[in-house]
Amino acid sequence: MNRSLPPELPADAPPLPDAHARTPADLFAQLASSDVGLSATEAYRRRIRWGENRLPANPPTPAWRRWLRQFHNLFIYVLLTSALISSLIQHWVDAGVIMAVVLINATIGFIQEGKAEAALRSILRLSKSQCLVMRDGQSFTLDSQLLVPGDVVTLQAGDRVPADMRLFYNKSLHCDEAMLTGESQPTEKSVDAVPLDTPLAERRTMAYMGTMVTFGTARGLVTHTASRTQIGQISELVQQVSLPETPLQRQLAQLARQLTLVILLVTAATAVFGFLVRDYSLAAMFQGAIGIAVAAIPEGLPAIVTITLAMGVERMARKHALVRRLPAVEVLGAVDVICSDKTGTLTANAMTARLLVTSTARFTISGEGYAPIGDIQHHHGRSPSEDEQQQLNTACSIALSCNDANVTEDDGDWNIHGDPTEAALHVLALKQGLNAADHARRRPRLDTLPFETEKRYMASLHQTANGAREIAIKGAPDQLLHLCRYQWGPRGIEPLDKHYWEAEVNFLTNQGMRVLALANKAAADNASQLHHDQVAAGGLVMVALVGISDPPRAEAVAAIAQCQQAGIRVLMITGDNPTTAAVIGRELGLAADRVVTGAELDQVAPQDLPALAEKVSIFARTSPANKLQLVQALQAHRHTLAMTGDGVNDAPALRQADIGIAMGQKGTDAARDAAAFVLTDDNFATIVGAVAEGRRIHDNIVKSIVFILPTSLAEASVILLAILFGWLLPITPAQILWVNMITAVTLTLALAFESPEANLMQRPPRPRHQRLLTPRLLYRVMLVGGIGAATIFLLFRWQLQSTGDIELARCVAVNALVCFEAFYLLTARSLHDAIWHRRYWAGSGPALLSIALVAVMQLAFTYWPLSQEVFSLAPLAPAHWLILVAATSPILLLVELEKAWLRHAHRRWSLHQPGVPGHVHF
Ligand code: ATP
Repeated sequence: MNRSLPPELPADAPPLPDAHARTPADLFAQLASSDVGLSATEAYRRRIRWGENRLPANPPTPAWRRWLRQFHNLFIYVLLTSALISSLIQHWVDAGVIMAVVLINATIGFIQEGKAEAALRSILRLSKSQCLVMRDGQSFTLDSQLLVPGDVVTLQAGDRVPADMRLFYNKSLHCDEAMLTGESQPTEKSVDAVPLDTPLAERRTMAYMGTMVTFGTARGLVTHTASRTQIGQISELVQQVSLPETPLQRQLAQLARQLTLVILLVTAATAVFGFLVRDYSLAAMFQGAIGIAVAAIPEGLPAIVTITLAMGVERMARKHALVRRLPAVEVLGAVDVICSDKTGTLTANAMTARLLVTSTARFTISGEGYAPIGDIQHHHGRSPSEDEQQQLNTACSIALSCNDANVTEDDGDWNIHGDPTEAALHVLALKQGLNAADHARRRPRLDTLPFETEKRYMASLHQTANGAREIAIKGAPDQLLHLCRYQWGPRGIEPLDKHYWEAEVNFLTNQGMRVLALANKAAADNASQLHHDQVAAGGLVMVALVGISDPPRAEAVAAIAQCQQAGIRVLMITGDNPTTAAVIGRELGLAADRVVTGAELDQVAPQDLPALAEKVSIFARTSPANKLQLVQALQAHRHTLAMTGDGVNDAPALRQADIGIAMGQKGTDAARDAAAFVLTDDNFATIVGAVAEGRRIHDNIVKSIVFILPTSLAEASVILLAILFGWLLPITPAQILWVNMITAVTLTLALAFESPEANLMQRPPRPRHQRLLTPRLLYRVMLVGGIGAATIFLLFRWQLQSTGDIELARCVAVNALVCFEAFYLLTARSLHDAIWHRRYWAGSGPALLSIALVAVMQLAFTYWPLSQEVFSLAPLAPAHWLILVAATSPILLLVELEKAWLRHAHRRWSLHQPGVPGHVHF
C-alpha cells in the first residue's frame, strides 16, 4: 500500500472540497490510506505536518475590557455617584477613598473572574472527547485531537463527530447537524456519492466535526481536521467560556437592587430631614447621605460569593467532579434523591468472566482483571470431552468475533479499549488460546449491529474459513432466549431446552453476576449486510452463557450509608437483570426486597408512578425512557434529584433532572453535553462527595452573608441615628469604607475557607426553595446589627463627651466596630454549633489567621501617621483597647445564647415530631 504523504496542501483551504462527491476508493488513494486506517508512524508524521486536530480558541476578551466590565454594577454606580458628590463638596479624602474602594473592588472581581474562567477552561480541556480510531489495523480509543487526515474512525450513537469525514461504511447513521446547518431534525447518512454542487446540509456522505451522532454507527475516512473543517471555517463561536449567573448570584443581584432602592430612599429622606429640620449645611448633609449609602452597601459581598463558589468548584474538580453548569453547584446542597446506574458507578467495572455454561457443562475461569492470564477448567475438575471442547471453542469464538473491545499491555498493566463487558469476553477468548488478529483474519467481519440498550444485544456477520457466512450474537440472556429456537448440544444443533438455560441464568445471577448469552446462526452465502429482522428470523442457536463478576465498589457501600444518614435516598436504575441487580443492591445496602423492571414500569399508570418511585429503590432492565419517567415522577413529589447517565438516549433524563451527571470514562459526548457535572472517575462516591461540597459551599455563603450584613446594618444605623439626633457622625464615609473593604472582607474571606460542619452529612437536605436568609437568620442579622450599632454609638458618645475630641471618639468607634466584627466572626463560624465544644475549634486556622491579620492592619490604621491624617484619627491609649474588648466581646456570648436557645427549642419540637432528625434548619 502506498504510505507516502499526501500532496502538501495550503493550510487555509480545505484539501478536498469535493470529498462528498468522490468515491471512498478514490479518497483512500488520494489520502494514502485504506479501510483499516493508517500506521501509527504515518499518523505521527501527518500530525507533525498538519498539527493537532484542535480548533483555534477564541482570542480572549482583552483584559482592559474585562476590567471595565466590573464597573457595570449597581453598587458601583452608587459609589461612583458618592465619589462625585464628595469631590463636588471638596471632601477629597472621602472621594479618594471611595474611588480607591471602587478600583479595589473592580480589581478583585477582575482577578476572580479570570481565575474562575481559567478553571472552567481547564475543565473543558479535561472533558475533551475521545474517539475510536483504527491504527495499525486495530481499534484504539484516542484523544480526538490526535486525529489526522487519512485516519479511519468508527462513529457510534452519542459521539460528537471528531473531524470532517467521508463515510464509507454506514449502518443507519443519523447526525444532529443543527449547529452547522440549522436543521433541527437529525440527518440520515449514506455512503453513495452525491453531486458536487450539493449544499452542505444535504451532503449525506459526510459527517462534520462537532455534530452529534444521534443514532446508528458508521466508519469514515477523516478528510479534514482542525481549522480546515467546516466548523473550523465558520467558527467564531467555539470554545467560548462564559460564566452564567448562578441562582444565588441572581438572588444577590436582586437583593442589591432592593437594597439600593431602600438606601437611596433612606438617604434622600435623611438628607432632606437633616437639611430642613437639623439645619445641616449642604456639605454636612451630603457627607451624611454618602455615609449612609457607603455604609449600607456590603461592598465585599459579591467578591466573597464568587471566591467561595470558585474555590468549591476547584475542590470538586480535585475530587473528580467537573462542573459544567455553575448554577448546579448550589442545587447540589438540596439534593434528596440520587438515581444512579449500576455498572461502573456502583460497581467497580472491573469485569472478569468467571463461569461459562454450555448445554452440558459448566466451566470455571481463573485469573483476575483484564490480564489474559488464567485458564478454563471443567466444573468437575476433569478434562472436557471432545464435544464439550468443541462447544467451548465455539462460545469463545463468538465472544471474540462479536466484540469491539481490545486489551493492550503497557509495562505489565493491561489496558482496555472499548466497553468493559466486551473486554471481559475478549480476555475470556484469549484465555482459551485464541489470537485476536489471527481470528479477525480467519473470520473477517462483514457487518455489525452494535449494542443498543433497547435491543440489548450485539450481532456481527462473518465470513468463515470455508467461505460460508455466519452471524454471531451476544446479549442479555432473556432477550436471546426469546430469539433462540435451538441450542448446541453434544450431537450438534438440537431444540432449545429453555428451562435448563433459565435455571442456569438464575444460578449465575443469584451470585450477583452479570450474564451474557452467546448465540449464532448461519446466514445466506451472499449476505453482506445485517438487519435486526434477519437476526430474529428463523431462530438462533444458543451456545453458552457467560457469568461476569463486577463487585460493588467498596467506597460506594460507604457512600450509600452516608447518603442514608444525610436524608438522601439512593435509587439504582440499571439495564441489568433484576436478580443480579437485587444481589448487588443488597451488598450495597439498598432496600432490595422489591425490584421493579422496566417492563413493569411501562404498565404503571402515570399517576401511580410517583408513589411507586417513593417505595422502590431498585429498577432493573430499564430503558432510557424509563429513566425519564422516573425523574418526572420523583419531581412531581417535589424531590430535588441527581441522575446519572451515559448513553445518547439518557440525555433527556439528564437534562430533566435537577442535576444531570455524566460519566467521564464510559459516557458518550451526548450525555456529557446534557449533564451539569461530569465524573472523571465514574464513581458513585464522587457524587456524594460533590453533594457534601455543595452543602458546604451553601453553608459558607450563608455564613458570609450573616456575617457581613450586621456590619453594614450597624454602620448605617449609627449614621442614621446621628443625623436624626443632629449629632456629629460617629464614623466618616472614608472610615466606613476602610471597615467594609479591608477588615470585613479579610474576616469574611475566612468563612470561604471554613471546613464542612461536623453534621454536614447527618442533617436532612435543605428545602430547595428555601430563601438565603431565613426568618431566623434575618432575626440574627437584626439582633447583631442592632447591638453593634448601640455599642458603637454609646462608646462614641461617651468618648466625645468625656474628651471633646472628635478624632479620638471616631477612632474609638471604628475600632469598636472592628473588634465587634472579630468577636462576631468567632461565633459566626457555625450557624448553630456551640463554641464551647472542642470540635468547634477544629479547622479554625483561617478564622484565627484573618483576625490576627486584621489586628495588625488595625494597629497600622490607628497609629501610622499617614493613615491618621488620611482618616482623621487620634491615637488610642492602651486603656481604650481594654474598654473596647470589654464592650464588644459580649456579642460572642449573646449569639451563643441565641444558638443554644434555638437548639433547645428545636430539640423540644422534634421530640413531638417522631421521625424528624434533630437538626435545626437555617
Ligand atoms: P447500568 O445501566 O447499570 O450501567 P448495564 O450496563 O447493566 O446497567 P446495559 O448497558 O443497558 O445496562 O446492559 C443491559 C444488558 O445488556 C446487560 O445486562 C447485558 O446482559 C447486556 N449487554 C451489556 N453490554 C453488552 C454488549 N456490549 N453487548 C451485548 N450485550 C450487552
